[in-house]
Amino acid sequence: MMTVVKVGGAVVENATSLAQLLDAFIALPGPKVLVHGGGRMATSLAARLGLKTTMIDGRRVTDAEMLEVVTMTYGGLINKRIVAALQARDVNAIGLTGADMNILLANRRPPRDGIDYGFVGDITATDARALQQLLQQGYTPVIAPLTHDGQGSLLNTNADTIATEVACALAQDDKAVRLIFCFEHAGVLSDPNNEQSVIERITPDSYRQLRANGIVSGGMLPKIDNAFAALHRGVGEVIITSPDHLNAGTVFSIAEAL
Ligand code: ADP
Repeated sequence: MMTVVKVGGAVVENATSLAQLLDAFIALPGPKVLVHGGGRMATSLAARLGLKTTMIDGRRVTDAEMLEVVTMTYGGLINKRIVAALQARDVNAIGLTGADMNILLANRRPPRDGIDYGFVGDITATDARALQQLLQQGYTPVIAPLTHDGQGSLLNTNADTIATEVACALAQDDKAVRLIFCFEHAGVLSDPNNEQSVIERITPDSYRQLRANGIVSGGMLPKIDNAFAALHRGVGEVIITSPDHLNAGTVFSIAEAL
């Protein structure tokens, strides 16, 4: 079993929860890949540089200066801190962006409905061969949420999407791939104020109901869409959970009747 773990911005930015996640990550059996986010740290570095952050519908507008900031923050500070923290745990980690070894090629997203997100990349090709080779050699890849356009430009790409694409690409060679989205809650909750209210299993039918009732909303919707897309594309198991329970949380299933 191979595991791709995506760790969200809120977990990465909290030293205690990041340490918890890394301890759980290294305890997972088999080869593994870590994909990280990093939103708020880019916002605070931008502010220290005198740059204003603009968000539209919770998504960052990445102009040329903000692209420099996210490259430094995601590809530099956050990525290398995680690599060093894994090395301290005797895991031979290697930090990468999607440009490294041509892992993630993307197109700059064209302006839509008058909204231009700037240097944001939609993935067009994922090459998992380099990752397979690194894993075979005993390295643990740590991927920052950056892609490239093949013409010299880096692009800012959602970390959930990167984790999904990487898991699907690895699953083409090796069917036994598990994808874990790790964030600040214990799973998808039926009551956002109650960490005990984790929904243990979500199917496409129950997802439709959860959406209609407004129980899942905001950033959770694309995460669940990615979960089902991954299952349809050959990933064996998808879980949404918190750093302290990597094997529990919400499990996704595309089987309507169990
Ligand atoms: P990430 O940390 O992975 O970047 P996002 O912020 O993109 O996560 O999306 C997760 C967000 O979804 C959570 O911060 C939470 O506020 C929101 N959310 C919406 N509905 C739910 C739900 N039913 N259970 C848990 N979280 C939910």
